[in-house]
Amino acid sequence: MGIRNRQWLLASRPRGPVEESNFRLVETEVPALRDGELLVRVHYLSLDPYMRGRMDDAKSYAASQALGEVMIGGTVGEVVESRNPRWPVSELVVGTGGWQELHVSDGKGIMKVARGLPESVYLGAVGMPGVTAWYGLLQIGKPKAGETVVVSAASGAVGSVVGQLAKLRGCRAVGIAGGPAKCAHVVNDLGFDACVDYKAEAFREGFKAAVPDGIDVLFENVGGAVFDASLARMNAFGRIALCGLIAGYGGQDISLRNVRSILVNRLLVQGFIVSEHMELWPEALKELGAHVAAGKIKYRETVAQGLESAPRAFIGLLRGENLGKQLVKVAG
Ligand code: NDP
Repeated sequence: MGIRNRQWLLASRPRGPVEESNFRLVETEVPALRDGELLVRVHYLSLDPYMRGRMDDAKSYAASQALGEVMIGGTVGEVVESRNPRWPVSELVVGTGGWQELHVSDGKGIMKVARGLPESVYLGAVGMPGVTAWYGLLQIGKPKAGETVVVSAASGAVGSVVGQLAKLRGCRAVGIAGGPAKCAHVVNDLGFDACVDYKAEAFREGFKAAVPDGIDVLFENVGGAVFDASLARMNAFGRIALCGLIAGYGGQDISLRNVRSILVNRLLVQGFIVSEHMELWPEALKELGAHVAAGKIKYRETVAQGLESAPRAFIGLLRGENLGKQLVKVAG
């Protein structure tokens, strides 16, 4: 008998909120490796909001996930078998292994990582979410010292890095997050200047007080009413990095009322997809890795235990139950 693997497949497309029944856990046998291939044991699986979009078959920037296929997902793990001399056994690699315990790779699209930092960080602050923060803030937002930077979903994997990078560049960093516990974390642990709870009744007044000089750079992760509240406070010639619209990923209405602000304030609004800027990843990862190693960028993780917990943890992420980067510890 060969090596057994467990995998989560997309069983059905969600109608409304994602349910556990949209996924199916199967046990399969790992095929024998061919020349050039390697087998990776997944230690951590990353759960990310973009996976929600892939579960639908609507047109988007990326193809939708096929039914009956292993759910897509970023992973960090160890090479346990290899027929590729470039990737010896025991090497630690980041890749897109998916929601499974083992994955076969042809060596393309994976990246070797150093063993200096905790390995899970390569799926968070020193991985795709960190680079997303770096790219959107610095390449689009172009913040100058003294300016005010606002980021929504501020306690999350991307938002937490946005605010800390803004602080490192001498800006006033203001977060928007759901609930007092998340806001306290953003200010007390991550060092933002302020954080406003969008679920609180006094959100509008609190927000106004948190950005007394208006907003110069907005890093938008949420959309809908939260985005609208920021649009209303933008300064002339402000920049908006449109990173995500999580409030609408379940088909909710996220239409805006304050579009006029874009014209009146001559705003720059730029959407972006981080995977289309691979040429800048090395520079971004170098800076992020150095800041994390020096303790200048802090990060928090919510770690679900065992592959079987992935659907539940993913549903939790879409409900805002995570604090910081949502991971699944699969092995290791
Ligand atoms: P997070 O770790 O921030 O987790 C998602 C958070 O979104 C939740 O914790 C919750 O925080 C918030 N949220 C969920 N539902 C809602 C809602 N209805 N209204 C408001 N907030 C909600 O995720 P990431 O940091 O990984 O991703 C943040 C954003 O960045 C997402 O929109 C994602 O799609 C986008 N992204 C875009 C990329 C790109 O290339 N453009 C690449 C990577 C991510 P709270 O409790 O505070 O509401």
